[in-house]
Amino acid sequence: MRFPTRCPHCQTEHQTEYLDSGIHDLICPACRGRYVLFVRKHRFEMLFDLGTRALMGGYAREAVANFAASCERCFEFYLRAVTLERAAGSTLDLDTFGEELDRTWKTVVSQSERQLGAFAFAYLGREGRAPDFLTPRALGTDFRNRVIHRGELPREAEVEAYAARLYALMNRLLAELGDAALHVTLLQERDYARYRETLPPGVPCRFEEHPGMFQLRRFGGTDKGRDAKATPAALNDAAVFQAAMQERGQLVVELFKGRRA
Ligand SMILES: [Zn+2]
Repeated sequence: MRFPTRCPHCQTEHQTEYLDSGIHDLICPACRGRYVLFVRKHRFEMLFDLGTRALMGGYAREAVANFAASCERCFEFYLRAVTLERAAGSTLDLDTFGEELDRTWKTVVSQSERQLGAFAFAYLGREGRAPDFLTPRALGTDFRNRVIHRGELPREAEVEAYAARLYALMNRLLAELGDAALHVTLLQERDYARYRETLPPGVPCRFEEHPGMFQLRRFGGTDKGRDAKATPAALNDAAVFQAAMQERGQLVVELFKGRRA
């Protein structure tokens, strides 16, 4: 997955590949100058944007895998945010705790069922109620399995309905998290700052926020481009997703215009 970037040394635009870490240590192909680009986006956001891009480009089947993965990573995001929020209210050192959190995550990283279980109890612990949205029906699990594991070719309308359902669920989780989401963002910023400290003098650093379907508030970022008005409660999931796709999905497509995934 590539996106355009501009070299701060010679102002030439070139393409670079998205990296999971968000840290892009680049050598400009035109002037050979080194610079580092930090992209402020979480993995679940990136995956949902990839799904939206695939859906809008007519690749409905490919979109399903991205939406499903995005939802799983959103559960991880929630779990991390809640765990960090609790630690922030204690005497624990957050840097050390962040490392302990990573070590704990490794015990569930390869098994999505374990992750779901950990998430369910984190949700109960914070919200005081069972995560009733975790049923296979609410998550569209059967549809997802038919497409991903049995090779079924879904219709665009089915994928849109699936995406709309997950989009509503994820937005609800993010709304419930509120400022707790900033804890995960803060850890990302800490990783970026640490990387920056290892760079020799004279290597320019740039921080970018790319348009996306979710509008997460960040430390060090801006609220530019966020909705000034709240989404009317009367809209159903499908309408909310359609509106977001029209408003921000096009920006996502334009960012990657004419490029192969
Ligand atoms: Zn250059």
